[in-house]
Amino acid sequence: MPNIFTHEFNTPTYKGKVSFNTGLFINGEFVDGSDGTTIDVINPTDGKVITSISEGTPKDVDLAVDAAEKAFETTWGLNYPGNKRGILLNKLASLMEEHIDELGALEALDNGARLSTSRVGADVIGAIDCIRYFAGLADKISGRVIETTEERFTYTRHEPIGVIGQIIPWNFPLVMFAWKIAPAFATGNTVVLKPSEFTPLTAIRMCHLAKEAGFPPGVLNVVTGYGNTVGSAISSHMRILKVAFTGSTVVGRKIMEAAAKSNLKNVTLELGGKSPNIIFNDANLEEAVNWSMFGVFFNQGQCCIAGSRIFVQEGIYDEFLKRFTEKSRSIKIGDPFAPDTFQGPQISKIQYDRIMGYIDSGKKDGAKIHIGGERHGSEGYFIQPTIFLDTKPDMRIVKEEIFGPVSIVIKFKDEEDVVRQANDTVYGLAAAVFTKDVNRAITTAHKLKAGSVWVNCYSIMSPNVPFGGFKQSGVGREMGEYALNHYTEVKAVHVNLGMKMM
Ligand code: NAD
Ligand code: MN
Repeated sequence: MPNIFTHEFNTPTYKGKVSFNTGLFINGEFVDGSDGTTIDVINPTDGKVITSISEGTPKDVDLAVDAAEKAFETTWGLNYPGNKRGILLNKLASLMEEHIDELGALEALDNGARLSTSRVGADVIGAIDCIRYFAGLADKISGRVIETTEERFTYTRHEPIGVIGQIIPWNFPLVMFAWKIAPAFATGNTVVLKPSEFTPLTAIRMCHLAKEAGFPPGVLNVVTGYGNTVGSAISSHMRILKVAFTGSTVVGRKIMEAAAKSNLKNVTLELGGKSPNIIFNDANLEEAVNWSMFGVFFNQGQCCIAGSRIFVQEGIYDEFLKRFTEKSRSIKIGDPFAPDTFQGPQISKIQYDRIMGYIDSGKKDGAKIHIGGERHGSEGYFIQPTIFLDTKPDMRIVKEEIFGPVSIVIKFKDEEDVVRQANDTVYGLAAAVFTKDVNRAITTAHKLKAGSVWVNCYSIMSPNVPFGGFKQSGVGREMGEYALNHYTEVKAVHVNLGMKMM
């Protein structure tokens, strides 16, 4: 029986009703999973069940791949011109704009992100901007003519790959959905996507909007379910020719292994980080404090780019710490729908326990809790903004990604000292430098091993700017024209204009 999710929002920031089918979306239809089982969707603010969705199985992944292959060969792919693909993507973006409050509220309910983030901040608007950007690129995919000799005509085509598997996390569900589908569709591929089992609602709602926008059946398929069943079926599927993944390094490794063991599909990975945020003596202190707070605590610390290692130069260390402490103490924690909330709940009980486990390990290893370190309130998965001091480089809280509201503040001497410490990590996703000295800003930015470096700001992104990681933070780049390379195969065509074979 198809499940219809119905919910009446009556919150300080949004009042309205939503109602939609929460089945798998395969070949343009909403269907039950082949085993008929379901997954409960949880509201992290109170730990209660919101609704249930269909649980997909490897068999459903096969059905989705059948539909995606057929669409690729018949209605989509090279049969559907780029300008028209762009029009469809723009239609989808317009429908999202029409439903912006609803999408934001759904995300706040399912993910716990404050409504102001999910609606106007990173999530819904970020997703719309991304889809519009790639809509504009859809008719600008072209190869080159390469001069060889006058007897030959040689050119390249950038062809779509075919069926793409996409596996996304729960921290920014809609943005992650957009970053994945938009470049895939702009280049003419078809998609089988699995959202996180913790935040499936907006991805399912997007299927309704994609259908309304007029995407042909089979172009977008969403199979909700668990990682070790649906996710693993996608990454090891013989007819999926590329997989794009965002999530943990542990699972990223499994995806690459599954690709290697099956059909050697192309793999792009966006994994975690332990990003350094460096504050020099001459920084604008107030700005540095504000951006640092945002950099580490935004979205409950559940950001792959979180500036979780804050390095502060000796001369301003005491004053920075004093102001950073005040700023962190002033964070308003609570109901994601309340207008003044900055920090909502962590996504799940599992993540809550994992973060508290890291806090315990920091204490046991001898680091000092400066503020926080405890649960906030008595229901839901809230954790106080936490600052650790007196850490050592080999502690787990210094080396590993915590993905929660936990920062460590470390004193440093000079540029050489801080660059060495900043790069002493297996990750390389992001970094930031605060200084008024333009030469120091640029030379330090160039020495940091990271895919994004911010100077005098943090977490700023744009759909036309590439994003991705050095080292174990990932493989490939998303967004910008760079993303298109990962969604096309380059074909070289050699035409004989007059050469004779002896
Ligand atoms: P995860 O890596 O387990 O989940 C991400 C996605 O992968 C989900 O859709 C999940 O269902 C799927 N998945 C899980 N196992 C799989 C498998 N064997 N094969 C294919 N797909 C699989 O992340 P998580 O457990 O939800 O979070 C754990 C940690 O991951 C966090 O604490 C954080 O450090 C990191 N994380 C990073 C990001 C990021 O943006 N880079 C996002 C979420 C989580
Ligand atoms: Mn949820």
